Amino acid sequence: MKFNKYAKLHYDWVDEMGWHGTPIMALIALIGSEIGEAAYEALNPIQDSNNMGEELADICLRIMDLFYSHNVDIDKKVAEVSPTITWISQSLEGDFLELMSDFRHVVNSARHETLEDDFYNYLGGILCRVIDITYRNNIDLEETLKTKIEKNKVRGNKGRKI
Ligand SMILES: [Mg+2]
Repeated sequence: MKFNKYAKLHYDWVDEMGWHGTPIMALIALIGSEIGEAAYEALNPIQDSNNMGEELADICLRIMDLFYSHNVDIDKKVAEVSPTITWISQSLEGDFLELMSDFRHVVNSARHETLEDDFYNYLGGILCRVIDITYRNNIDLEETLKTKIEKNKVRGNKGRKI
């Protein structure tokens, strides 16, 4: 799927909400929070519901907004990083462990004075792992992203806490 066009839609909404300008470490923490929300849904599945899909989409949206804000071509980044991703895990729980294991690199590479390529590559790696997890669990990521963007548009109100 192509992320750039959805990133623009989501970026515009975040902008409208007045949420841009959030410090980088806070943005990274919010990505971590979404990983936690998706992991919770993985551990507590609801029958006939796709809450894990929505939370995985939230991880993507947070990453997409950060990338878009930093003028990163997301589709190019995914194409670049995707072949470097390998999996040890053979279970959903293990997949989330690997996601969290990689997340530490995102945090640590953001502790420098300026953000370097390694930060964007690690963040791209998180996005690639989420794409893989949706694929492994028969979740239509593009549809889920579209639905979440629409839901945000209806639900979002200016001044709401980020
Ligand atoms: Mg969420």
